[in-house]
Amino acid sequence: MDVFIDPPYLMDNLRACYEGTLLTAKKFICHIMNTATIAPNGDVLNCIHIRKPFGNILDAPFEEIWNSEAANTFRRQLLKNNLTPLCENCPFMSPAPRSVTRKIQSL
Ligand code: SF4
Repeated sequence: MDVFIDPPYLMDNLRACYEGTLLTAKKFICHIMNTATIAPNGDVLNCIHIRKPFGNILDAPFEEIWNSEAANTFRRQLLKNNLTPLCENCPFMSPAPRSVTRKIQSL
């Protein structure tokens, strides 16, 4: 019988996952960071799990909300801080490619 672990990078980092040190062991990115979610009430969210609204499309144009300083700061902090503890259990987290890691260091 075969057992598959998904996402596959977890297999290489089982000990860190078990010990809760995954985010200190490697650089990760959120691969849906450039995806917006609009909640039924019009709130614009960057992350469906963190659910921090950056504005509401009933009050301001989407482009203005998405490119706001608050939304940009949120994304920048996610990258600089190697995501959040909540991300560690999220299927949208994945190891950062080396080229991305270099760009993150220059933020
Ligand atoms: S919890 Fe983290 S990895 Fe998952 S979608 Fe939100 S920001 Fe991305």
